[in-house]
Amino acid sequence: MTEQHRPDEGRILVVGSVNVDLVLGVPRHPEPGETLAGTGSRRSPGGKGANQACAAALLGGDVRFAGRTGAGPDADLALALLRDAEVDLTATKEVPAEETGLAVVTVDEAGENSIVIIAGANGSWSAQDVKSLRAAVKASDLVVSQGEIPAAAVDQLALLCAETGTRFLLNLAPVIEVGAGTLATADPLVVNESEGRLALTALTGTDAPDAPDAPDAPDDDAATVRGLRDAGVPSVVMTRGARGAILATDAEFAEVSSPKVHAVDTTGAGDAFVGALAVGLARGESAADACRRAVRVGAFAVTRHGAQPSYPSRQDELPQ
Ligand code: ADP
Repeated sequence: MTEQHRPDEGRILVVGSVNVDLVLGVPRHPEPGETLAGTGSRRSPGGKGANQACAAALLGGDVRFAGRTGAGPDADLALALLRDAEVDLTATKEVPAEETGLAVVTVDEAGENSIVIIAGANGSWSAQDVKSLRAAVKASDLVVSQGEIPAAAVDQLALLCAETGTRFLLNLAPVIEVGAGTLATADPLVVNESEGRLALTALTGTDAPDAPDAPDAPDDDAATVRGLRDAGVPSVVMTRGARGAILATDAEFAEVSSPKVHAVDTTGAGDAFVGALAVGLARGESAADACRRAVRVGAFAVTRHGAQPSYPSRQDELPQ
């Protein structure tokens, strides 16, 4: 890490999933028991942790990624773009007894996808493994994690952040059963609309403000964000697709609109957003400034295909 350190950047540690994505084109989704001819296949790097680390590094962040892969060529493919982006992989380990995580993504002609994820080595993270990252956590300005590794590992990471006074960005995607103490450490908690509602229900035990007949009502998103704050989350960022994001901190409550773009593939847009947010926060920018750039980075990502290959680098012009 030392030789790669970028002095103007805060240090970011991402602890999370890394996968190979196997993307299959289909004319329509198969029925149970049906065999269907697909239209093509592509294998590419994925996993929310790896995507976010890649997005942050391409934007100039000083990023270390702690992930778990199996051995062999899948691991090489899964980590290839992180290597290209000069992400520090010294905390990433091979678990020879496990396979590299795999996401099988089926996309129909209308662009609707269905996804099956095999956690593989991502599921092998233990609380003990996380404890071994104490020095790396302490050396970081921001720690980032998501819901694609076991909840016990995320809980331990939150605890380490609290003990070392390191800022913790938790992207609870998907929503897993982390402890209330972990949510009380998340600064910010980043969720999309549906994750926000699930997280609020999990935290308070009551139904989130949205009624099923009004799933997109903007007021419901705002109420969900306020509800999460009231339940003890220090700061909340909710991403809302083409509508941008909502930010709520002690100091402010703001709606940040996204630039209007022609979206061709929204895969990994949320991860591009989180990577950009992390870079801004690690640099010491205000959450509002970091969110304003993150929505533009998310909007850039949806104008290109794939996840990591769709992310902008510092030289790219972001949509306004
Ligand atoms: P997730 O994929 O995690 O559900 P979102 O769909 O909320 O995440 O997208 C994350 C960010 O990407 C948004 O906040 C926005 O900035 C950008 N984004 C996503 N979809 C679009 C779109 N159709 N047009 C413009 N920006 C988009």
